[in-house]
Amino acid sequence: MAVYLDCAATAPVDSRVQREVMTYLGVEFGNAGSRHHGFGARARSAVEKARVRVAALVGATRGEIIFTSGATESNNLALLGLAEHGAETGRTHLVSTRIEHKSVLEPLQALSARGFEVTLVAPEAGGWVDPQSILEAVREDTLLVSVMQVNNETGVIQPIREIARLLRNHPAYLHVDAAQGFGKETSPLRDPRIDLISISGHKIYAPKGIGALVTRRRKGRRPPLSPLMHGGGQELGLRPGTLPVPLIAGLGKASELAMMEHEERNAACRYFKKVLLKKLEPLKPVFNGELDRTVPQIVNLTFPGIDSEEAIEAVSRVAAISNGSACTSTSESCSHVLSAQGLDEARMEGALRLSWCHLTSEPDWNGFIRAIESIPVAEHPGRSPAIGIGQAGAA
Ligand code: PMP
Repeated sequence: MAVYLDCAATAPVDSRVQREVMTYLGVEFGNAGSRHHGFGARARSAVEKARVRVAALVGATRGEIIFTSGATESNNLALLGLAEHGAETGRTHLVSTRIEHKSVLEPLQALSARGFEVTLVAPEAGGWVDPQSILEAVREDTLLVSVMQVNNETGVIQPIREIARLLRNHPAYLHVDAAQGFGKETSPLRDPRIDLISISGHKIYAPKGIGALVTRRRKGRRPPLSPLMHGGGQELGLRPGTLPVPLIAGLGKASELAMMEHEERNAACRYFKKVLLKKLEPLKPVFNGELDRTVPQIVNLTFPGIDSEEAIEAVSRVAAISNGSACTSTSESCSHVLSAQGLDEARMEGALRLSWCHLTSEPDWNGFIRAIESIPVAEHPGRSPAIGIGQAGAA
């Protein structure tokens, strides 16, 4: 069976997390909002335990955690939720980057249509955003700065700590989409200057459909968010609806495990990456994103002259890989991330994302190489000598 190398899209659920989820799907099925019996109390206590565990990973307090359905919802709540306050206070400018996930870019587009002004900072060619260019984009009327922690397509780590430091004297709220870094790159997220953090469960071995928004208090005050939905008043009224206790307990367990194990997990991933880079050397890959700035779990590369769709098909018996982010794989257009980095079309058309985790077993790298080398050169009139540098005939 093919080895799964698409953990940036979604990761397997840890067996210990599965057991926790099953407990609250089975015997402990109570509603955390039920006040009159033990079923409700036990469900509520599971939710509060999870809140403490999630908060611990980012150095927050449990009262600062709002459970959501995932990072998409958290991003929407952070961005759209601040709009009312921005409009009331005349702070209607927003700063973000061109390499954000669509769940940040599209709410920003929606705000722009509502009269907000949005500045999107371009990344450097290596896939990272220069903190200085963020500072230069910020104005007196800037309401919010939103920068992702780790890019989901390239794995490039963004300089969140430096951005937080440069913004220390500016009142703008700082939001970080940490879908790819939460529970993995833990220390930057503890920075008290970060006001809002989006978290996704299924990237840290919890189920899909659960996440959180951290709403950190600054000088005792939490960011002035308005809810996107109205109803039962749960989650401080910011995210009403009956709490999905099994999923929340699962995210809590996954956070607890990440807290205890992230260093050894990262070490395992670094080793996997080292082997991968060595094994793929004969194919002379070109890296899309500055390798030294990438997380231990993701690499984005182009084999010169090889189209990504054909590569994915060719290696499919050996490894399950993707071309860019799964979230946009239904769209035919080239990646907005790689295009913002200024890559030429041939390189973007060949871009492959390989992503793994500490649970990933070693694929048959020789089989992988043979599969790529078996792609007939004649079928690729579009191979670009500009990036081929003599490698196009790898077969
Ligand atoms: N932001 C980033 C950077 C992501 O990688 C993802 C998931 N691909 C999301 C947001 C959306 O997360 P979720 O699937 O939890 O909605």
